[in-house]
Amino acid sequence: MDIFSPIDGSIIAEVPDTPPAEVASAIGTAEQAFADWSRRSPIERGRVLRRAGELMLEYEEQLATLEARNLGAPYAASLAMVRRAAGSFIYFSELADKVTGDVIPVDGEYLTYSVREPHGVVAAVVPWNAPIIFATKKLAPALAFGNACLLKPSPETPLSALQLESILLEAGLPEGLARVLPGGRATGEALTGDPRISLIVFTGHDGTGKAIAAAAAKNLVPNALELGGKSAQLVFADAPTNRVVDGVVSGVFSNTGQACIAGSRILVERGGSEQLFRGLAERTRRITTGDPLAPGTELGPQTTLAQKEKTDRMIRNAVEAGATVLAQGELPTAPELAAGYFVRPTLLTDVTPEMEIVREEVFGPVAAVTTFTTEEEAVALANDTEYGLAAGIWSTDAARVHRVAAALRAGTVWVNTYGVISDRVPFGGIGRSGYGREGGQAAVELYTRHKAVWTSLHRDEATADILL
Ligand code: NAD
Repeated sequence: MDIFSPIDGSIIAEVPDTPPAEVASAIGTAEQAFADWSRRSPIERGRVLRRAGELMLEYEEQLATLEARNLGAPYAASLAMVRRAAGSFIYFSELADKVTGDVIPVDGEYLTYSVREPHGVVAAVVPWNAPIIFATKKLAPALAFGNACLLKPSPETPLSALQLESILLEAGLPEGLARVLPGGRATGEALTGDPRISLIVFTGHDGTGKAIAAAAAKNLVPNALELGGKSAQLVFADAPTNRVVDGVVSGVFSNTGQACIAGSRILVERGGSEQLFRGLAERTRRITTGDPLAPGTELGPQTTLAQKEKTDRMIRNAVEAGATVLAQGELPTAPELAAGYFVRPTLLTDVTPEMEIVREEVFGPVAAVTTFTTEEEAVALANDTEYGLAAGIWSTDAARVHRVAAALRAGTVWVNTYGVISDRVPFGGIGRSGYGREGGQAAVELYTRHKAVWTSLHRDEATADILL
């Protein structure tokens, strides 16, 4: 597979596609590696994973440069992602030996306890928009709790995950336990459709999520789906003035809008709306779009040409449907970036609830800005979506913040901030945004299963209550 740089459209690497036969053989090897790894002490597993996290930090510049060149995210943002990804290994390395079971009181003379055990070989399939984050978000908990894990990165951005695979080996992970299998849909189907897979964890588009859920259903395999979003940011007139504009803008344009959590519906309370509209428009026009490796760049290109074309098309469709461009940033002018996949960061207004731009995920730096009059109307507009991944509330009224947070139909709600995520906190969606939660105890639940062990304490078999 040719791997392109979105900065100038050049080919920066060639990566072999993994054919289904090789996927099948990787699953066989992973099963063998699992048999050994799952029996190792969690403390030892934690040690290896900690080393992996430390090695990622040693290689952080290399990984961040790869990510900036392949994904197109500014270097500083790429470096922050690499550090967060390394943090996943460190966090889960420390959680590995804290997974405990219960002794459960029951009727009758039994010692009954539950333990958590790993599932087996986990299939992880991830998208192109934050490759290193998604790779570690799945690999770190899967491995920490004793599973094997086969990761299929996106065919567009596999480079950082491939380097991660060699880092894991250098850290001392057994050969074959955690393989990265680059490829497209056929590789993904071979992996998720194999009956030897014990858990499927997927991040990506909801259409693909349905195909994965169908594959999982065929083999009765548990699965978790992190899908798209069309998240709202509710800006009340009493929003904290010192950070609302920067916060809302970064909530939608971060990573060139290629974020499932992008707060791409901006709902502004009428009272303060004129001033806020002006602030948002002015900030959007000032966004520096350019080479991700150049200092000062705030917004890189879209990662793929197809995504650039989709974003441009959705802006055009919105305008044709009656939306007005409130503000647009500039395209970079450097001739060497002429073939890059850049789009203008764009705020649209005069939108109506049925428009495509309000209902469908763009995955580019585009937001629809509209107004509301009452709190009830704001909540109704925010919840008027098939998705349910995230939402943001900007207000300094504490009672309102908690009322609205309770009423929003979303897996995550941010208040006076947007987009912060931690491995310690459960994350996942509702409805078209998927099901299942990752992070903290939710990750323990996802990557392990309960086993109950009942032991009779009866001295005399005749008195044991065997229920025939
Ligand atoms: P995608 O669904 O097209 O692809 C995701 C992965 O699935 C890729 O690796 C792809 O090769 C693979 N794939 C495709 N068809 C498959 C099949 N039938 N069986 C198995 N694997 C298959 O998504 P994308 O375009 O790479 O990423 C963008 C989408 O991801 C957006 O919708 C975005 O919102 C979503 N996303 C969600 C989250 C989240 O945490 N909720 C995070 C990031 C991105």
